[in-house]
Amino acid sequence: MDNSFDVIVIGSGPGGYVCAIRCSQLGLKTACVESRKTLGGTCLNVGCIPSKSLLNLSETYRKAQKEFNNQGIEVSNIKLNLSKMMYNKNKSVLSLTKGVEFLFKKNKIIHLKGKGSIAKNNTVIVTDDSGKNSNFKAKSIVISTGSVSSSLPGIKIDEKTIVSSTGALSFNKVPKELIIIGGGYIGLEMGSVWKRLGSNVTVIEFLDSIIPEMDKDISTEFLKILKKQGINFRLSSKVTGVKVAKDQAIVDFTDNKSAKKMRIQCTKVLVAVGRKPNISSDIIKAGIELDDEKKIKISKKFETSAKNIYAIGDVIKGPMLAHKAEDEGIAVAEIIAGQAGHVNYNVIPAVIYTSPEVASVGKTEEQLKKENVKYKIGKFPFLANSRAKVNNEYDGFVKIIAEKKTDRVLGVHMIGPHTGEMIAEMALAMEFGASSEDIARTCHAHPTHTEAIKEAAMAVDKRPIHF
Ligand SMILES: Cc1cc2nc3c(=O)[nH]c(=O)nc-3n(C[C@H](O)[C@H](O)[C@H](O)COP(=O)(O)OP(=O)(O)OC[C@H]3O[C@@H](n4cnc5c(N)ncnc54)[C@H](O)[C@@H]3O)c2cc1C
Repeated sequence: MDNSFDVIVIGSGPGGYVCAIRCSQLGLKTACVESRKTLGGTCLNVGCIPSKSLLNLSETYRKAQKEFNNQGIEVSNIKLNLSKMMYNKNKSVLSLTKGVEFLFKKNKIIHLKGKGSIAKNNTVIVTDDSGKNSNFKAKSIVISTGSVSSSLPGIKIDEKTIVSSTGALSFNKVPKELIIIGGGYIGLEMGSVWKRLGSNVTVIEFLDSIIPEMDKDISTEFLKILKKQGINFRLSSKVTGVKVAKDQAIVDFTDNKSAKKMRIQCTKVLVAVGRKPNISSDIIKAGIELDDEKKIKISKKFETSAKNIYAIGDVIKGPMLAHKAEDEGIAVAEIIAGQAGHVNYNVIPAVIYTSPEVASVGKTEEQLKKENVKYKIGKFPFLANSRAKVNNEYDGFVKIIAEKKTDRVLGVHMIGPHTGEMIAEMALAMEFGASSEDIARTCHAHPTHTEAIKEAAMAVDKRPIHF
């Protein structure tokens, strides 16, 4: 094999594999190094895809148990077969990782198997499983080594009793008591899965709200709905230690307000306190600088402090999301090929795939207040949306925030059925600089959940029809 390439991408997550495909489309001779057995990174193997599979399957189970009989669909003897559910999840993961393998072959991308490290003169050393090193040269290198789960000081994740999200995606028994440390989206998604499958779930969160970066109206409503679903919350509480005794875990925590010390015993503990960039020592040795958040420092063109070495995805600033990494992968490939690659960081949607879903794009009310921007708001509840009513799923609302003077949409925040899909319309509207009036005057099909968007846009001008 010829060992020199135009581009070597290190890491095959959504940032890396998408970047490699775009490089190849642009006529660049491309290789992608991956240390995991399968392609697709965190997202396909232990992140977005397996979690969404379990969210979907567990929600069907919950509906079959709790709703079908009331809806005239008579079912009896509903039983959970957890190993079959896990088999289905694993099958979906396998088919998608194989799909990336197929795309690599189709685009003539060389898959280098092993751990990639960066040496002098744009050399990438790939160390395979047997410890054998092979050297490759590249005109440009893209670092897309992603992120790994964080923990708290003194808490050791053993992936048996104290698990990260990876362990929580593969329990072989429904834990009787599941404690989740951290009220971020990963904790709440996994908490929803195991609650639906029968666990008694308690979320312990340091702050006084869940998903703190979210618009306050939404996080307040979200907390109310999750509590109604039976998930327990201990907010403003600091976990001080987790011990394993036999097959049980003991979690110690302190109430931040009263300083009262508390202890809960449980079957499993999920540590979901965030993720940290996966930056190995060779990257630092190669002279690549880090920023204040200990992520790889990049220029506007994604170039690191080392010439012709770029970085994208979870290793650089911005939200740790698969679609953000993908868009950066495309942008950096185009920049390397001499084009004008670009990512609009004002319009990166974020979705939480619980039931109901939570979705947002653009600025929150709290951010606009801080930035002294004058705004107006339109809100519309799903309770007044005919499709949500007939489907008997009407928790939540749509909130549109528009600039007071120009009416340009600055942010959209929703909680409710199918909002994870609906948010794409709002991202598109914002990319085109739409005003709330533009959205209000766009004909939306009836009966659809998207009519709630049109009504919220009309509510910005205080003229919703159905509320
Ligand atoms: C449980 C969970 C659920 C999630 N759900 C969502 C979701 O619904 N939507 C969403 O947008 N995001 C979600 N995420 C986040 C998403 O997975 C990440 O933001 C995304 O995968 C980042 O992509 P990336 O390409 O930067 O890195 P990664 O996907 O982390 O990929 C990096 C790859 O690089 C490889 N690698 C690392 N070092 C080396 C090396 N030296 N040599 C060779 N290979 C190396 C790793 O093995 C890995 O395969 C979720 C994450 C988790 C954990």
